[in-house]
Amino acid sequence: YLFGKTKSTQVVHSLWKHVIRKGDVVIDATCGNGHDTLALLRMVADKTGGGRVYAMDIQKDALESTSVLLDQSLSPDEKEHVELFLMCHSKMEEVVPNGVDVRLVAFNLGYLPGGQKTIVTRSDTTLLALEAAKRILAPGGFITAVVYVGHPGGREEFGRVQDFASKLPVENWVCCKLEMLNRPLAPIVVVLHRR
Ligand code: SAM
Repeated sequence: YLFGKTKSTQVVHSLWKHVIRKGDVVIDATCGNGHDTLALLRMVADKTGGGRVYAMDIQKDALESTSVLLDQSLSPDEKEHVELFLMCHSKMEEVVPNGVDVRLVAFNLGYLPGGQKTIVTRSDTTLLALEAAKRILAPGGFITAVVYVGHPGGREEFGRVQDFASKLPVENWVCCKLEMLNRPLAPIVVVLHRR
C-alpha cells in the first residue's frame, strides 16, 4: 500500500488508513491548510459521535485555512469531531483530556504551503512536542512525521527527529523512516510505533 504513492503525504495517509479506526482519538500537531486534519477526521469520525481530532497550529492563518476547508467539506455533525487550537504543539497535553487514549500524533513539519516561509517548525519545539506525544500516546499507537529537508534548517530538524527516534527503547518502540533515495529533497516519513 505504500508504493503506489508518489508523495510522502500520500504515503502517510495510506499508512494511517491501515492503523486508524473509527472512534479513535488522534492529534494533528501541525494542521496548516487542514488537509491532514480532514483526512484524519474522515478516518476516525463514527456515526455514534465517537472519534476526535485535536488539531493545532501556531499560525492564525493556518487555523483559518483549516476551518474554511472543514466548513466546505463537512456537515455540521461531522465538524463536531474536530477541535482546533491556536497553540504550540509542545503544549498538546493541555488540550487532550486526562485518561484519553491517543492513537496517533501526526506531524507535518516545515512551513505552511502558500504562507510565510519564515514561520517554520523549529527543532527545539519539535523535540518538546515529540516528547509530549510520547507521553500521551496509548500502547499500540503511532507518531508519524513528514519531515521536509529542502528548506534551510530542514536537514538539521530531520537529524534531531532521527536522533530522538534512534534512542527510543527497542522493547517498547518500533521506529523506522521511509526516504526516497532517487528524490533526495523529498520529505522523509518517520514512523514511531509504541508496542
Ligand atoms: N498538515 C498541514 C496540511 O495538511 O495542510 C501542513 C502543515 S505545514 C507543512 C507545517 C505547519 O506547522 C505550518 O502551518 C506551521 O504554522 C506549523 N507550525 C510551525 N511551528 C509550530 C508549532 N510550534 N506548533 C504547531 N504548529 C507549528
